[in-house]
Amino acid sequence: MDLEFYGAAGCVTGSCHVLRYGGKKILLDCGLYQGKDERERGNNIFPFNPKEIDYVILSHAHIDHSGRIPLLYKMGFKGEVICTEATMDLCSAMLRDSGFIQEMEVEWKNRKRIRQGLDTIEPLYTAKIAELSMYLFRGYKYDKFIELFPGFKIRFKDSGHLLGAAIVEIFMQEEQEEVKLVYSGDLGNINVPILKDPTIIDYADYVILETTYGNRYHGNITNQLEKLATIIKNTISRGGNVIIPSFAVGRTQEVLYCLNKYVESNFFKNVKFFVDSPLANETTKIFERHTEEYDEEAKKLIRKGDDPLNFSGLTFVDSVEKSIQVNKIQRGAVVISASGMCEAGRIRHHLKHNLWRKESSIVFVGYQAEGTLGYKILNGEKKIKIFGEEIAVNAEIHRLDGLSGHADRQGLLNWVDGFKNKPKCILLVHGEKEVQESFKEALESKGYNSKIMQLGDLFNGKNIFNEDKISIKDKIIKRIDSYEKIHKDNIDELIREIRTIIEKSE
Ligand SMILES: [Zn+2]
Ligand SMILES: [Zn+2]
Repeated sequence: MDLEFYGAAGCVTGSCHVLRYGGKKILLDCGLYQGKDERERGNNIFPFNPKEIDYVILSHAHIDHSGRIPLLYKMGFKGEVICTEATMDLCSAMLRDSGFIQEMEVEWKNRKRIRQGLDTIEPLYTAKIAELSMYLFRGYKYDKFIELFPGFKIRFKDSGHLLGAAIVEIFMQEEQEEVKLVYSGDLGNINVPILKDPTIIDYADYVILETTYGNRYHGNITNQLEKLATIIKNTISRGGNVIIPSFAVGRTQEVLYCLNKYVESNFFKNVKFFVDSPLANETTKIFERHTEEYDEEAKKLIRKGDDPLNFSGLTFVDSVEKSIQVNKIQRGAVVISASGMCEAGRIRHHLKHNLWRKESSIVFVGYQAEGTLGYKILNGEKKIKIFGEEIAVNAEIHRLDGLSGHADRQGLLNWVDGFKNKPKCILLVHGEKEVQESFKEALESKGYNSKIMQLGDLFNGKNIFNEDKISIKDKIIKRIDSYEKIHKDNIDELIREIRTIIEKSE
C-alpha cells in the first residue's frame, strides 16, 4: 500500500489522495479547491495521469470532495466512481450545478478578456461534461462489502456528515495478512437533525482523518435552533423579514427540519416560508427519496405521516419571476436562499431588499470564509456593495454557532477512541496548519501516533517522503500528461512551471 496526498493536505478543500495497491491506482475523493486554496493551488492540474486511474472512491457529494470528477473524466479517466446511492444522486445535481457555475464565471471573465484584446478561456468543465461523467458512477448501500478486484474490498459506513456521506473501510490482502485502512471522509457532528451520528469503527491499521475543527468545541445545537425560532417570531412581529443565507445542500434541509417542528406546534403566526435556490429545491427532493438514511427521530416523524422537510406555509420558489415576487414582500417572510456565503445566487437580491431595513433580520447558519460578502456583513461592516450599489447594513445580524456538519475536537477524539486497537499511524488531512498541530498534540497526549500530511507527501506504511524527492524528470512527465486536453491558455503557465522546476533542480 502506498498513499500520496494531493489535496486537502495542509488545507481544507480539494480532497484528493492516491492509493496504490496491487498495480491499481485508486483516488480517495477528487475534490475542487475552493476560495484561497483555489487561488494558491489552482484546479486545472492533476499531479498524475487521469487515464491511469482505475477507481475513484468517493466519500461524499460535497464539491470539495467530488468537484473535480468531471474534469478527471474530461481528461480521459474511464474507471468507475464508487460511492453510496445517495451520494450518487446528490452528485448528479451538485456536479451539474458546479459545471454551470464554471460556465457562468468563465463567460463573465471572457467578456472582460475580449474587451482587453485577450484570447477567451474555457471553463474547467461544463454542466454537460458533469452530466456525462455521471455514467461512471456506481452507487452502493452502506455496510455491504464491495470487492473491487481480488484482494481489495471496501465497505461504506455512515459518517453522519451529509446525506450519503461515508467513512470508507478499505481491506487489502498483503501477503498472509489483511491490512485495513480507514478513510474518515468528513466526520459529522453529533445530534444533527436528520442525520445519524458518525459510526464508530472498531479496528484500523492506518487512518486518514479529517481535522477541520480539531481545535474547537461546538455549542449545543438544540439551543441554537430555539434561538432561530425566537429570532423569526420577534422579527415578524416588528414587521420585517428574516433572510437566511444557507448552503443549498445539507444545511437548508436541517433548517427546514427545525422549522417544521415549530410550524407543526403552531409556534408561528402569519409567517410565509420560502426556499429560493434551484439546487436546494432539487436536492431536498433527493433527501426525500432517501428517508431510509434518516436518523430514528426523523423516521418517527415519517411514520406518523409528517414529511419533516415540508410544512404548510412553505413554498419552494421555482422560477426567477417568483423569486422577484418574494423580493417585494414587506413583512412576514422567511427566505432561505443560497449561496451560503452570499457570493452568488439569489440570496444577494434578498439581501439587497432587506439589509437596509432595521425591521428585518439576517441569520447566518453556516461558516463564512474571510473576504466573502457574508463575512463582511457578519463582521459589522456598515455599508456593503451588492450589484455595484451601496447598501446600508441596518438589519439585525445573527449567527447560529452550533450548526456544524463537522465533528468538533471532542467528536474527533471520541471517534478515534472508538478503535479497540491503537492504529499504527493516523494521517491528518483536511485542516488548517495551526488546527492540525493543536489536534496532533491532543492525539499524542493520548498515546496515538499521528502525522500531518503535506501536499505531495507519499506514505508507504512506514515513512513519509515528499514529492520533491521524486526525480525531477518524473515530475515534469506527470505535469505534461495532466496538461493533455487542457486549454492552450495554460501552456504558458506549464512552460513557466517546468522552467521553475528545472531551475530549482540546478
Ligand atoms: Zn463535506
Ligand atoms: Zn470536506
